[in-house]
Amino acid sequence: MSFPDIVPELKARMPQLRGPLIANQPLDTQSWFRTGGPAQALYLPADEDDLAYLLRNLPADVPLTVIGASSNLIIRDGGIPGVVIRLGRAFGKIAAEADHRVRAGAAALDANVARAAQEAGIDGLAFLSGIPGSIGGALRMNAGAYGGETKDVLVEARGIDRAGNARVFGNADMAFSYRKSGAPEDVIFTEALLQGRAGDPAAIAAEIARIKKARADTQPPNKTCGSTFKNPPGHKAWQLIDAAGCRGLTVGGAQVSALHCNFLINLGNATAADIEKLGETVRARVKETSGVALDWEIKRIGIA
Ligand SMILES: Cc1cc2nc3c(=O)[nH]c(=O)nc-3n(C[C@H](O)[C@H](O)[C@H](O)COP(=O)(O)OP(=O)(O)OC[C@H]3O[C@@H](n4cnc5c(N)ncnc54)[C@H](O)[C@@H]3O)c2cc1C
Repeated sequence: MSFPDIVPELKARMPQLRGPLIANQPLDTQSWFRTGGPAQALYLPADEDDLAYLLRNLPADVPLTVIGASSNLIIRDGGIPGVVIRLGRAFGKIAAEADHRVRAGAAALDANVARAAQEAGIDGLAFLSGIPGSIGGALRMNAGAYGGETKDVLVEARGIDRAGNARVFGNADMAFSYRKSGAPEDVIFTEALLQGRAGDPAAIAAEIARIKKARADTQPPNKTCGSTFKNPPGHKAWQLIDAAGCRGLTVGGAQVSALHCNFLINLGNATAADIEKLGETVRARVKETSGVALDWEIKRIGIA
């Protein structure tokens, strides 16, 4: 499928735009599920000023979506209408700073931030090593694992709102909760300042290796977006899914992982619709057997 080309009109409206703006750009190749339709227009901002320029000049009726590494997204098969923003290299810098802090651009991968902190002898950020997303996604999702969460280490986040204004959010302003930030939905994060503590590089490296092994032992190697549903209060989602008899359940090319049944996997030829339908089937069966309504942790975006 393809969308009408809105790029010439947008470019005419924004003659000083520097980052590429590309019509009907496929997104399945970067999605961790390897599924989904195209972006009507994909924009890769050249830098913060360029991003602010687009945001100031984009007509209010053009839908806007930001994606990170797409490790927590079902991009629906019909694609994403409007402008999709993906931050690139200009937003990928990582620097260790005084007082055991790390400043990271929103496009920096969590694993690279963990590695940079380790090399600089900054402890407390190793939990990021096993999360396959970017810092922007970690800020929006309050990503966490193995006892650490973004909310535990964030000093401040910088971003730009839909009107093109620069914004700074302290930790409390991020209104973090389980796998969620309550910061305004329209904000595109561009950078985070993270707080660690003094540590021994060798000990941190050992911790990162331990996390890597634990993941390899418990997570399927397939195309997946990790945990599908949030753990409901007092429950583990995987246990409810297992008890509902969904381990290994298949819809089209999508399957509930037999290794970790809160993970949905693409067996090779799944569509986004297969994956979403499988997730909804699991939700219905869990509701029927346990009375618990599972909430999606994975975000579903775009049109079916
Ligand atoms: C194998 C596997 C294991 C995983 N394990 C974990 C885990 O242990 N813990 C965990 O928390 N997650 C885990 N995840 C899920 C995922 O990696 C995290 O949610 C991650 O934080 C998503 O980051 P991303 O850059 O991929 O964001 P995306 O998936 O691209 O987007 C997720 C959300 O963040 C928003 N977003 C992205 N970038 C920005 C930005 N710059 N500004 C504003 N909003 C933005 C998007 O709009 C979307 O709403 C796992 C995923 C996989 C595939």
